[in-house]
Amino acid sequence: TPTLAVVGRPNVGKSTLVNRLLGRREAVVQDIPGVTRDRIVYDALWNGRRFKLMDTGGWEPDATGLQGVVAAQAETAMRTADAVMLVVDASVGATTTDEAAARVLRRADVPVMLCATKVDDDRLVSDTASLWRLGLGEPHAVSGLHGRGSGDLLDAMLEILPETPREDFGAGAGGPRRVALVGKPNVGKSSLLNKVAGENRSVVHDVAGTTVDPVDSLVDLDGDIWRFVDTAGLRKRVKMASGMEYYASLRTSSAIEAAEVALVLIDASEPIAEQDQRVLTMVSEAGRALVILFNKWDLVDEDRRHELTRELERDLISVRWAERVNVSALTGRSTARIAPALRRALESWDTRIPTGRLNSWISDLVAAKPPPVRSGKQPKILFATQAQTRPPTFVLFASGFLEPGYRRFIERRLREDFGFAGSPIRLSVRIRE
Ligand code: GDP
Repeated sequence: TPTLAVVGRPNVGKSTLVNRLLGRREAVVQDIPGVTRDRIVYDALWNGRRFKLMDTGGWEPDATGLQGVVAAQAETAMRTADAVMLVVDASVGATTTDEAAARVLRRADVPVMLCATKVDDDRLVSDTASLWRLGLGEPHAVSGLHGRGSGDLLDAMLEILPETPREDFGAGAGGPRRVALVGKPNVGKSSLLNKVAGENRSVVHDVAGTTVDPVDSLVDLDGDIWRFVDTAGLRKRVKMASGMEYYASLRTSSAIEAAEVALVLIDASEPIAEQDQRVLTMVSEAGRALVILFNKWDLVDEDRRHELTRELERDLISVRWAERVNVSALTGRSTARIAPALRRALESWDTRIPTGRLNSWISDLVAAKPPPVRSGKQPKILFATQAQTRPPTFVLFASGFLEPGYRRFIERRLREDFGFAGSPIRLSVRIRE
């Protein structure tokens, strides 16, 4: 389960808040080894989702002073937790200590949010607006006294908290990365799997499922083990009757859901079909990383190459960010390029842009090209944050409506300046006055 760390000065109402969020007095469930008494982790549950809440209280100011201690806490929190919440006392406003912690957290490569406590009466609600200048996004107002806002706060916490804890990331503790090999019937999926895997393939039995059907295959590609999901149907080479197409498409979508990256095969020797486009759309809507393989390249002549170039511009514009590799499952052509392409796509998919960097980037962008004026008002972008990775998901806070054209402009520039090759990205806009 992922962990959210709570950071803040003493007396800002952190413990009251933590108790309120836990809904009852909790027993200490876990001590983190190597750390003494300064972090306590609680199991929490909200809306059916389990997570851990890490309280960084219980320490005393040392020689570095309060400011140094809180900044160090923030530093530790962002290195060990999956998300961090800075708690600030709204009745006092942002102190230099709060600012020091915020400065640290703006560099974090995990999502960070801001909570304003002691908003016990309505007059204070307007004071919380000044906390935007901490550069950590929207201040979420709560009252420890009344419990007001704690449900909304929990919703906001779960929104930024990744599903997967950081220690599960990558090929390390999380095991092999999961690949879906998909494409319409007869594009060469099983041929390719046989070619690249050969004997380097072992079959994985689904523990919970049937004992008859091996579900996934572990494949050694370019020195790494990859988990090709749901390859049972491929191995058996069942030929589909036309009425089975619906089930084939269900199978495709469940493989994509189970995977982190999709390898979509397209038959390069034939015109790009609607079915190819449907599979690509499934991948980007599911938010998975993508590599496109043009298979049967051994059948492609000069004329067909020219045609294909035109088809790419016409039919594959929406996934132009995906890397394409021309391969042949028959001859083995360029199959060595598949694993590096998968790695690049996953790297984009995992990327997080720190909040500070994102905001200085966006303020430069807006200065050079402000959003179009609407009904006499100039919309402003107050703040930008990357709320999620896998795929990278951005939230913009704006005063006033941002035209769809301007949103697309930002999305385009995000790609131009940060890359994200091989991964879909998402951008949403929230209007705040
Ligand atoms: P699947 O339904 O996607 O698993 O496709 P198969 O792997 O069964 O391949 C369908 C047909 O295409 C078979 O007759 C293969 O021999 C042929 N095929 C697959 N890959 C290639 C290739 O790269 N070049 C050529 N010329 N034929 C291929």
